[in-house]
Amino acid sequence: MQIVCLDLEGVLVPEIWIEFAARTGIPELKRTTRDEPNYDTLMTYRLSILREHKLGLPDIQKVIAEMGPMAGARDFLDQLREAYQVVILSDTFYEFAHPLMRQLGWPTLFCHSLEADTDGTLVNYHLRMADQKREAVKRFKELKFKVVAAGDSYNDTAMLGEAHGGILFHPPENVIREFPQYPVVLNYDALRSEIDRAFARAA
Ligand SMILES: [Mg+2]
Repeated sequence: MQIVCLDLEGVLVPEIWIEFAARTGIPELKRTTRDEPNYDTLMTYRLSILREHKLGLPDIQKVIAEMGPMAGARDFLDQLREAYQVVILSDTFYEFAHPLMRQLGWPTLFCHSLEADTDGTLVNYHLRMADQKREAVKRFKELKFKVVAAGDSYNDTAMLGEAHGGILFHPPENVIREFPQYPVVLNYDALRSEIDRAFARAA
């Protein structure tokens, strides 16, 4: 009765907006919440840039499909799913993640959604709920699961704190410094060992 909650971007796949900006050569799309802390302002800006460049959802999905998951991600995930239930908790959007989920063998993903009009132009985004990563872990615990969570960044620390065990995967230096309570791992073998250890401690 164990669930592993994994972040997606930075753990199994590249940072989608950053990689998308690089592949399309649109530097404006490199803006993140570090540059623009207001998420709504940032998303409205991103959608307007996509419209300006006439990039509709099919074009975007084609670029994202070419990114592919990180090297070794599929094998890591397949082996993890043999031993545990795995749920990916991400702040990305289903429409963006879709081509990558195909390449990962369709694992369970909880994230947000985008709204496109009939010609594929993105017109809006919909956050399913606030603080969904932490809320999901909280609900799994209410359902009597032991939960171990792993992620790479600030937006994961609430779920790491809520889980029975939290692990940082390849995090930036400032996150390591601010959250010294979580073990840090740098590759999939180490992540798997740490997940096993965390469940052993939580038993
Ligand atoms: Mg991440």
